[in-house]
Amino acid sequence: MDALLNLSIERPYSTRFRERWQGSHREAAVDLRALTYISSVDDNLNCPICQCPFVRPVMTKCDHIFCGDCLNTALKTSLTCPVDRRPLSLEGDDSEFMEQPDGGNPDIRLLRRLRKGGLVMDVPNAILNMVDELRVKCPNSAAGCKTETTRCNIQGHVNKDCGYVKVPCPSERCNLKIRRKDLGPHCLHGTVTCDACETEMIEADLRVCAEDRA
Ligand SMILES: [Zn+2]
Ligand SMILES: [Zn+2]
Ligand SMILES: [Zn+2]
Ligand SMILES: [Zn+2]
Ligand SMILES: [Zn+2]
Repeated sequence: MDALLNLSIERPYSTRFRERWQGSHREAAVDLRALTYISSVDDNLNCPICQCPFVRPVMTKCDHIFCGDCLNTALKTSLTCPVDRRPLSLEGDDSEFMEQPDGGNPDIRLLRRLRKGGLVMDVPNAILNMVDELRVKCPNSAAGCKTETTRCNIQGHVNKDCGYVKVPCPSERCNLKIRRKDLGPHCLHGTVTCDACETEMIEADLRVCAEDRA
């Protein structure tokens, strides 16, 4: 099935048509911190700042691990390790990287600079693998998706496979969206009356209505 899909993606349709048809356009980044984790998560895999399993983690020289974004944010107010308060600053003036009193954007090059100075480094691959392999529910589970997969596969599922992601209607004349699982050759945004509940709705919602009753 996957092989078939990949084959059809290679056909020389215009990108726009292909994207509409396949519904394989790029989705927004899944918020890994908002996911429901099915695996029980070892406490050592939770970031001490956001309390979620690490997202793109980094390790400090004092062996503490944080999500890169979490550490970066914490360093804007204090150039110390958020756990043990050991200094995380290099010689010279780091104040240019700190939060500006006028609310100006702190410099995101700080982590790179600390990395160069050996104060921040990559985490061991074993840790990355463990957070990648944590099992999560699809972010569209409330809408009905039953998919459970590893965290490193969830973005791919949402981008390519999740039937509950709303994708552009295949009709060039229609700017509405439709669940990927309901994609068909024509627009399903015309108004119809559902036989079962005798309510007017768009054609695409007939299936939703049937699923809700099931
Ligand atoms: Zn974090
Ligand atoms: Zn530390
Ligand atoms: Zn899904
Ligand atoms: Zn439509
Ligand atoms: Zn109905």
